Amino acid sequence: MKILEDRIRRDGIVRPGQVLKVDGFLNHQMDVVLFRQMAEEWARLFAGCGVNKILTIEASGIGLACLAGEVFGCSVVFAKKSKTKNIAGDVFTTKVESYTHGNVYDIIVSRDYLLPTDRVLLIDDFLANGAALSGLCDIVRQSGAELVGAGIAIEKSFQPGGRMLREQGIRIESLARVSYMDDEGRLEFED
Ligand code: 5GP
Repeated sequence: MKILEDRIRRDGIVRPGQVLKVDGFLNHQMDVVLFRQMAEEWARLFAGCGVNKILTIEASGIGLACLAGEVFGCSVVFAKKSKTKNIAGDVFTTKVESYTHGNVYDIIVSRDYLLPTDRVLLIDDFLANGAALSGLCDIVRQSGAELVGAGIAIEKSFQPGGRMLREQGIRIESLARVSYMDDEGRLEFED
């Protein structure tokens, strides 16, 4: 999506450790006009798939997912990062390894908000090693809902998550695919 790639080139900052900082429009300040355009692109790509629920993970996915929910006309659920060790039985839960912080944390979704009749689209800001998205896929699997696919804002395609998940048969639509990044701030996109 050219408008997103242009914005990344303009406002993105490459940080050591293969981290792309996009706080100016995505991860801190949010350009919701751009979010709306991104949501419309996902709606075009997933048209006719019968999506009736959007699932994301707190915190960075929530803004994007809300715009997507508005465009798809469906509810948005976000997986919570749980701090409590004793998890009640009324939730689906799985473990996720954080890319940016390096620790492992539990995510939870109430059983009330994901039903076997749901057709779920996952939304997230970044796809790197695939841990966050794998966790969300696991939650959908536990619920018995149908996984339609995933809409990602920025995929770092030089990292293994996208390939690993596509090999599992998961449809992933990334609006910008960064194929190269280095500590000098160079950045390239896939065609
Ligand atoms: P993964 O689980 O695929 O390794 O990483 C995805 C998650 O880590 C995203 O939800 C995002 O919050 C964070 N993340 C991964 N890579 C980056 C990055 O380059 N920049 C930022 N801002 N977040 C990232």
